[in-house]
Amino acid sequence: MNERDEPPASADVVIVGTGHGGAQVAIALRQQGHEGSILMIGRDTSPPYERPPLSKEYLAGEKGFERIMIRPEKFWADKRIDLALGRGVTAIDPIRHEVTLSDGGKVGYRKLIWSGGGDPRRLSCPGAGLKGVFYVRDRRDADAMMAALAAETTGEPKKAVVIGGGYIGLEAAAVLRKLGCEVMLVELQKRLLARVAGEELSRFYEEEHRRQGVDVRLGTGVEEILGEEAGRVTGVRLSGGEEVSCDMVVVGIGIVPAVAPLIAAGAAGSNGVDVDFCCRTTLDDIYAIGDCAAHANPYAGSAVIRLESVQNAHDMANTVARAIMGEKEPYDALPWFWSNQYDLKLQTAGLSLGYDETVLRGDPATRRFTVVYLKEGRPIAFDCVNTMKDYVQGRKLLEQGVEKVDRALLADPEIPLKDLL
Ligand code: FAD
Repeated sequence: MNERDEPPASADVVIVGTGHGGAQVAIALRQQGHEGSILMIGRDTSPPYERPPLSKEYLAGEKGFERIMIRPEKFWADKRIDLALGRGVTAIDPIRHEVTLSDGGKVGYRKLIWSGGGDPRRLSCPGAGLKGVFYVRDRRDADAMMAALAAETTGEPKKAVVIGGGYIGLEAAAVLRKLGCEVMLVELQKRLLARVAGEELSRFYEEEHRRQGVDVRLGTGVEEILGEEAGRVTGVRLSGGEEVSCDMVVVGIGIVPAVAPLIAAGAAGSNGVDVDFCCRTTLDDIYAIGDCAAHANPYAGSAVIRLESVQNAHDMANTVARAIMGEKEPYDALPWFWSNQYDLKLQTAGLSLGYDETVLRGDPATRRFTVVYLKEGRPIAFDCVNTMKDYVQGRKLLEQGVEKVDRALLADPEIPLKDLL
């Protein structure tokens, strides 16, 4: 089926969203021997691709689209997985088991899997709609930014203001520096990565970005995006009143879960959509996975959270495929994540949520170190910067659930973490 073809009137399994979760659930269903028809419906016009490179190698021009595709285009047809691209699902009728598409068409389902991810949270200040304000969520966003970077100018380096000091903002800042831009990074909180990491990691990345020439402004907001009459960005006004000139603004201030049709159909959820231990929503025969799925996570002490990571989308997809094939195993995968900035490879295992102590393994000045997060003496997460071994062994420690560890041993980078098992 190609983009212009009409989707079928019904499919055994309908998957909404062609991102990481959607693609993986289709792959896993076929791997597990599912014979029925599978239809993936996605707003994106490109076949399924990986999102992480959009703020890394793809944005830097180091990897082309072919290399970030989740599977070669031919794979989907070979596996009898229909793709209806460039179409959104706007409504769900859970009684009739039917979805409505943005072009007015209707498709029936036996099982529906919602993998809609999230939409980038938009700036709400004056000037937010000017040309030259970019978000980094899908391929089109990255392509638009790359085109702006490649456009002819005076020969002076381009000036970019990045709003948001989370992983996406930091990765974009690193790529922009690599491409020769002058970069200012503005973060409302008093430290970078405040939502996801401890103080040690935040300070390390702050210093690193400053060393690389990024003008990092903490505790600072943006009051207005300034522009000329033609509608192009010319600068920003910061919360203190300072006006900074720039050619582009890159916004990475989080996502809003894309679940409106599900909630309108009656699914429970306040932050995304609620799912149970095998990713079922409160509506019959409707599952939800990935960034939009609020679930009780065993690595967060069963707190109900959403995780925005490839691991989570991938593992939830496998859980749902198994459930549809009749094997109801609870979703209990260990959370992990990565981020690449400059020559730094960060790998995280576990969730640091609610930690009460940290132990530093190694010296951040060497650019190889690990932050261990403890809760009541028990390791709950590892942030590993260029320390692959710690990451691999830290994962084992978390999976095996070590109760107490000797802090002196933990702090000694010469002692392998596996020795603490
Ligand atoms: P997505 O992959 O976002 O897919 C959702 C899809 O659903 C989208 O294509 C969307 O258009 C579509 N959709 C939404 N609503 C509808 C609708 N109503 N009808 C039809 N289609 C719809 N994670 C990591 O672990 N490591 C990283 O280094 C990392 N880097 C990242 C860098 C960037 C720039 C971004 C954007 C994300 C990054 N992530 C990273 C996060 C990771 O990509 C996401 O957690 C993952 O893609 C979530 O998968 P998903 O299927 O839930 O959503």
